[in-house]
Order: sequence, then structure tokens, then C-alpha cells
Amino acid sequence: MLTTKQKADLGILFKIPNEIRLAYLRLKFAGDKVICPCCQSTFREFAPFSIWKKPNSWCVQCESLERHRALWMYLETKTDIYSKPLKLLHVAPEDMFFKRFEKEPNIEYYPADILPYLYRKGTKYLDLLSPDIPDNTFDVIICNHVFAYIEDDKTAMHNVYKMLKPGGWGILQVALDPTKAVTHEDLTITDPKERERIFGLNDHVRLYGLDYADKLKEAGFDVLIDDYTAEFSDEEIFKYGFWKGDPFYVVSKK
Ligand SMILES: [Zn+2]
Repeated sequence: MLTTKQKADLGILFKIPNEIRLAYLRLKFAGDKVICPCCQSTFREFAPFSIWKKPNSWCVQCESLERHRALWMYLETKTDIYSKPLKLLHVAPEDMFFKRFEKEPNIEYYPADILPYLYRKGTKYLDLLSPDIPDNTFDVIICNHVFAYIEDDKTAMHNVYKMLKPGGWGILQVALDPTKAVTHEDLTITDPKERERIFGLNDHVRLYGLDYADKLKEAGFDVLIDDYTAEFSDEEIFKYGFWKGDPFYVVSKK
């Protein structure tokens, strides 16, 4: 018979409310060796994330992962997102960013998704494949980890391009295997277990390769691949719980 602590360590306390689990993990990981840029909480390390069990991954205060913390800092230090009036489309709006963006006085915030009920209240309906996508509407578009769910990703990327104003920019991250030159897509694979085995998640329809940038260019974007975490020492990578590699795909429209 496993003790509660052993069960928690093994990540099999899934049935208990998330808040209780998080409170337990906050005690378990209490310390000051790492700091979350998104919520400023400190821990001895970030918790392993439930699905992949990667160490130093999950902030048990704001629930950020590596990519959220890196993006948080990137937006603050490398972009003008907080310094001038702009209209921001945020597709599949991650919670910690939603809370911040909606409070920023310079940002006219438009959180949206095809399944808005999965996100915070206020998220609007948006189908990236709709023929009625508005032209030249947003100064900035953040759309992370969305395209791998969409069979017709070409149309989705083109519509994101269409919605961006000339002179605007965006961050369009995807799950990508940097060891593969070419994206692996097979729409005939529909079994969730097979999809998970081949594409990484059970509802993904492809795993992008290094040709992702070409796909964005085909949609019309200029593309900057910014290997942001390369600017940090190994100590800093640990301290902020970043994932080395995983560059930002920063797009812009002339
Ligand atoms: Zn946090």
C-alpha cells in the first residue's frame, strides 16, 4: 500500500482537486533555488510536469511551463508589447498571460479560440479556418501550440497572416523536432495512441520539422528564428526553469 506522499510523488493523486495537489507540491518544492518569471514564486526546483515527467518544469504556483517562462521574459525584454498602444490577438490564451494582458493599459486584448469554454471567461470564439477572417486587424498575434491540431494548417497560417496588420508581429510556436528537416504529417493516423506515439500528443496530426519556417514564409510572413535561451548560462537556465533550444518563431508582416 502506497502512502499519500508516495502517491503524490508518483503523480497518481490526479483525482484530488488540482488546488489541493498544487498546495501540497508548493510545500514539497519550497525553497529559493529557482524563480518563476511569471509569478515571482521561488522553489527549490520546479516540479516535474505530470505528462512528460520532465524535471524542473512546472511552476506549482501559476502553472507555467518552460516555454511560458521563457516567453514571459522574452516579451518583457525583447519586444514593445508593454510599451505602446496595440491590439493583441491571443489564440489558445494561456492563463498566466491572459491575466496580465487584460490588465495592461496599453493593450486592447482579444483572447480567442475555437473552443473558448476551455479558457478563461472572456475568451471569444475564433475559427482560424473561417472564410470570414478579418483583414489587417491586429498589431500583435500570439498563437502558440495551435497549428499541430489543425489538419489544414496552411489555411490557418495564412489566416493568421491575413489578420496581422502590416508592420505587425507575432509569435507562433509549435511542437517541433529539431532533428527532422521535414514535418511529419499523416492525416490517416487517427488512433489517439498512435498519434501520441508518433506526434507527441494524442490529438496532434503532425510533428513539425525544421521546414516549419518555410511554411510560415509560404503563408506570407517574414520569419526570425530567435534562439533566446542561448543568451543564458546553464545556471540561469536552471534558475528560471527554461528549456534549452526551443527557439522563438517571431513573424512579421511588411
Ligand atoms: Zn509561476
